[in-house]
Amino acid sequence: MSDRLEGDGLWLWKSDPDSAVERAEWQDLGAAVASASLSLNPDRWSWLGSGSNDFSVAAVKYHLVSRRDFSNRFVMDQCKWVPKKCNLFAWRAEMNRVPTVEALGKRGVVVIDDMCNFCNEGLDLVSHIFTACPLALGVWEKISFWCRIQNFFVFSFRDLLEIHNLGDKGKTEREVVHGIILTTCWVLWKARNNLRFNGKKSSVDEIFSEIRVVSFFWFKHRARKGSLDWRDWCKFVNM
Ligand SMILES: [Zn+2]
Repeated sequence: MSDRLEGDGLWLWKSDPDSAVERAEWQDLGAAVASASLSLNPDRWSWLGSGSNDFSVAAVKYHLVSRRDFSNRFVMDQCKWVPKKCNLFAWRAEMNRVPTVEALGKRGVVVIDDMCNFCNEGLDLVSHIFTACPLALGVWEKISFWCRIQNFFVFSFRDLLEIHNLGDKGKTEREVVHGIILTTCWVLWKARNNLRFNGKKSSVDEIFSEIRVVSFFWFKHRARKGSLDWRDWCKFVNM
């Protein structure tokens, strides 16, 4: 403290910059305020963000997201011929945001019966219900045989959402396979809920049959690709 006092008890706050760091800081400060012009007007805020001269919510949003890297983010393909609920369901399931027992548990909702009701061997979670449960595997086997999908290997829900892009399928066939995969996820989830909440058990054949009927109905009436014959649909030809 004594070095701050000078003479008659006055505080000595002034000192010249005497190190290289202080001199550099002094120069930076000088450069920063050199362009400032002072006036007698009241102070006011001004928006210096990128993208717009005027302040707006859109300008702030642009400023916040423009420098972020989204290249690693998974973007799900939407299928136009299945209802939005199927696309939304698949989108949420991929992010683990459907109410499985596991997802509810993470959010503080405890469900006593945490096993998959289809098999009672695995836990009630997305990866099990859709890609590991014996019942789901049975359904996917039938789907892959019906749609002639070679090498149907899935280890995660995301794998299901990318199957239609594998191989050398034509555009229409890709769209059909994509919709059938989404329909299958939807019907499997319905079967899971029907068993868990209503005690109604469905077999692989019943689930597969429902998938084929529901997807035929949706494709025929929503895809607008001309007439479609049920027998052709069952043989997976002339679509
Ligand atoms: Zn299971």
